[in-house]
Amino acid sequence: MAKAKPILSASTNPKDFVIATIGSHSALQILKGARDEGMRNLVICKKGSERPYQSYGVADEMIVVDEWENWNEKIEEELIKRNAIIIPHGSFIAYIGHERVKKMNVMYYGTKDVLEWESDRKKERVWLEKAGLKLPRVYDTPEDIEKPVIVKFHGAGGGFGYFIAKTAEQFHEVKDRKYPHENDFVLQEYVVGVPLYIHYFYSPVTGELEILSFDKRYESNADSIGRIRAEDQLAANIHTSYTIVGNIPVVVRESLLPEMFEMGDRVVETSREVCGGKGLFGPFCLETIITRKLEIFVFEISARIVAGTNPFIEGSPYTALKYDVPMSTGRRIARDIKQAIEQGRLEDVLG
Ligand code: AMP
Ligand code: AMP
Repeated sequence: MAKAKPILSASTNPKDFVIATIGSHSALQILKGARDEGMRNLVICKKGSERPYQSYGVADEMIVVDEWENWNEKIEEELIKRNAIIIPHGSFIAYIGHERVKKMNVMYYGTKDVLEWESDRKKERVWLEKAGLKLPRVYDTPEDIEKPVIVKFHGAGGGFGYFIAKTAEQFHEVKDRKYPHENDFVLQEYVVGVPLYIHYFYSPVTGELEILSFDKRYESNADSIGRIRAEDQLAANIHTSYTIVGNIPVVVRESLLPEMFEMGDRVVETSREVCGGKGLFGPFCLETIITRKLEIFVFEISARIVAGTNPFIEGSPYTALKYDVPMSTGRRIARDIKQAIEQGRLEDVLG
């Protein structure tokens, strides 16, 4: 489907624009970041979820909708009228859907060209392999399983419903019992190591790739199983799940940084060849597992701000090295937009 063209303003004054996002995920830091860069902001909330945005006092304006399904031309019109620039995040894409996002005429920070590449596991793999990253092996059929795999259903919200299987029999046992009608899944080699989420930022304005921070996730019940004895785990017949509840900051072993910067460079470079258009820019995240041999396996890419950046509203140890103000990812986005507007290059940061 053809992508809609944003309606552009020629103003070079950032105050003529409004940074807008949906109230969930990383909206608090996006809104605060806009303010910190001297721009106005707006939050679109589903009825009943207004409280945090009021309580923390970060929103200049709020639009309330009954249901996300009711997202329609009227809301878009309101946004266009205000010269709003939408900042997409995980919940934005989950609630609005790729197809509707592509059709939107409202200004959109980031590239829509990569949406279909990161949402389709096969395409994502082509991209990441081309970037020379190490990926977990993928098995075509359950009968090929020869070591533990993690079974991921398409669109599983925040890791819910993933399970581990060691054999084809085990796979069929769990699938037939719990997910008999789900047939869109991937069987990925289960990589033993620690999960680490690398938060990158590539600015088309400065042409520089940055690493802003890292997190690991706090997941239910994967992070609680270790609280009971192994024999109790067996007795309780617990299946591991990865429902995201929160995020924990991490600082990495410094000698890992050079490789991580190179990985980010290659992902950005290959995105231009693979996905077309302007390629990947703005915040993105490589979701990795690091083994005891310090091999970095990438199991997923998120081509936008991830909520794992939320612990760093006051900046991270890394942004503290580079910036003389507390630099969150939300603020870094606002700064990118502000600089693009001031230089008359707004189109360069819109998808
Ligand atoms: P929510 O708006 O909290 O229902 O989240 C919508 C989607 O965004 C979820 O399905 C998750 O995949 C993702 N998400 C939300 N919060 C987080 C988080 N703190 N860390 C990682 N992913 C998240
Ligand atoms: P996701 O929803 O894709 O972010 O993944 C949810 C959880 O599954 C994360 O905690 C990851 O550590 C874990 N995970 C995903 N893929 C793999 C893999 N191939 N090997 C080991 N753990 C994985």
